[in-house]
Amino acid sequence: LQCVRINARLTFPEVVETIMSEWKRKIPFQVDIAGVIDIMGSSLYSRYDTPIRELLQNAHDAIMRRRRGDLQFQGKIVVRQDANAGTLSFTDDGVGLTPEDAENYLGTVGLGITGLIKRGTPPPSQQSGSADNGDLIGQFGVGLFSAFMLADRLVVESRNEAAESGVRWEAGPGTEIDLSNIERSQAGTTVTLILKSEYRFLAENSEAVETAIRDHADFLLIPIFLNDSDV
Ligand code: ADP
Ligand code: MG
Repeated sequence: LQCVRINARLTFPEVVETIMSEWKRKIPFQVDIAGVIDIMGSSLYSRYDTPIRELLQNAHDAIMRRRRGDLQFQGKIVVRQDANAGTLSFTDDGVGLTPEDAENYLGTVGLGITGLIKRGTPPPSQQSGSADNGDLIGQFGVGLFSAFMLADRLVVESRNEAAESGVRWEAGPGTEIDLSNIERSQAGTTVTLILKSEYRFLAENSEAVETAIRDHADFLLIPIFLNDSDV
């Protein structure tokens, strides 16, 4: 507690006021990530296929951004189920993240590169601009977190086209984030969901995943594969 200097000639109410004004302080908003994810799961996002849609959209946006620098670039998204590991992963060969981007944008709810690009203030690593951003879907910087509805842990491995090293980002809902540099030869990103037991079926049942992909990604102009077959 801070010490408050009191003038001996002050009246009692003045003393109280002095103490109160010394005690006034500014505090930052706090966000309980686990709580936010709970809200997402129970109201905003109520279907298991919503996170699948969000991850496909992120992959789509990354490929669209890579196309800006290379108009011939086609790109593809591969969704992979691993029943033994209990994981569902989404790999794209899009623009990828630098270690710095991963640190700044993956773990910050409400802040995403896509939103910054749309507002005309892209981060330095993502300058390849375009007048029309209508091809990008992301905006609010919350999509990635919806994956915690389905997953106990989330691993993002990525490499930006221009970066010297790849990056690995791993977190649970509201836990500390593990960041490390990794070897990764190709540009692009893999997001792996280590599924909660109640969603283990998404690592096993390909029909459930295929239906979710069809329902939400049919309109995306990028080929999508599920375990090596074209969806
Ligand atoms: P949004 O899509 O609204 O920007 P998200 O929470 O879905 O927000 O993602 C947060 C940020 O993480 C994105 O802005 C993007 O920069 C980065 N990101 C997520 N997935 C990928 C991906 N597959 N490739 C490259 N960057 C990604
Ligand atoms: Mg998104």
